[in-house]
Amino acid sequence: MSSENQKIVVFGSIVQDLVSYTDSFPRPGESVRGHNFKLGSGGKGANQAVAAARLGINVSMIGMVGEDMFGDSNIKDLSSNGVDTSCVGRTKKTHTATATITVNKEGENNIVVTLGANLEMSPEIADANSSKIAGSKMVICQGEIDEKGNRRAFEIARSHGVTTFLNPAPGDPNMDKTILELVDIICTNENEAEFITGIAQNNVKDAEKAARAMLKMGPQHAIITLGGKGVLLASKGVDDVEHTAVIKVDAVDTTGAGDCFCGSLAAHLVAGHPISASIRSAANLAALSVTRHGTQSSYWKLDEIRQQYP
Ligand code: ATP
Repeated sequence: MSSENQKIVVFGSIVQDLVSYTDSFPRPGESVRGHNFKLGSGGKGANQAVAAARLGINVSMIGMVGEDMFGDSNIKDLSSNGVDTSCVGRTKKTHTATATITVNKEGENNIVVTLGANLEMSPEIADANSSKIAGSKMVICQGEIDEKGNRRAFEIARSHGVTTFLNPAPGDPNMDKTILELVDIICTNENEAEFITGIAQNNVKDAEKAARAMLKMGPQHAIITLGGKGVLLASKGVDDVEHTAVIKVDAVDTTGAGDCFCGSLAAHLVAGHPISASIRSAANLAALSVTRHGTQSSYWKLDEIRQQYP
């Protein structure tokens, strides 16, 4: 899929995951033994950048990390996946964002996220990288950084005819929905669709209503992922909401599946594929990612896909 002109800019979050595996969660004041520990590079922005880059697309990450070892390792992991990190800034004022995750034997998790350097993703950072944004085909933002930074990145993109893609995850009930006026493609899960539209999500019919409602807020395309039940697409000027099924897999770890879907979808779109076909491929790639443990490490690379599905 690779070509010089197929450029994606991800303006978003970089987070260091620190995962402890234990039998049961500690109660307040209690200390429990863990039986395993893993470090992982993450953050919705970085995950989506890696998912797209693994498909051979040119991806640049605009993000912020601290002057610490997690900043070093997150930049290294982005680079080793082929992501251009020349626009990842480093701050002395605070630390690289962290997610301290505890997983119990039922597979449930508790997560404490400290946003650290991600909070410095301001409109000024978007302005400082405006030429990178202007020279791309698509800019992707998520909901893990300051909304004002996302808004400015989209304003710059719009003024240069660059496609804007918003994945408003994790869902925020207080999100300023007027940002959708600057969005060409919105992609949510059911929770995020409910926060944005106020339509309670109990079944596919509710998701269809939410997808149509999101179209009225600005985007050309509204996409809702439904886990193993597939994906919905509503598009302006098209009456029907399209439902794409996803391949059946044995899921072992669904963490980061939504990011895999968004990054893969963006990659297919900038490579010039029609939106329905792009959704089908992205949904199947996200399904493949849930068959492997981890987040970025679970995303399939182009050569693996070609080998497995010649
Ligand atoms: P997460 O927060 O775990 O990253 P999400 O809630 O944002 O995920 P989902 O709708 O759960 O997003 O999943 C995104 C995509 O991943 C789905 O559209 C589908 O393609 C794939 N997927 C997720 N779970 C499964 C599953 N159990 N079986 C097959 N595919 C799945």
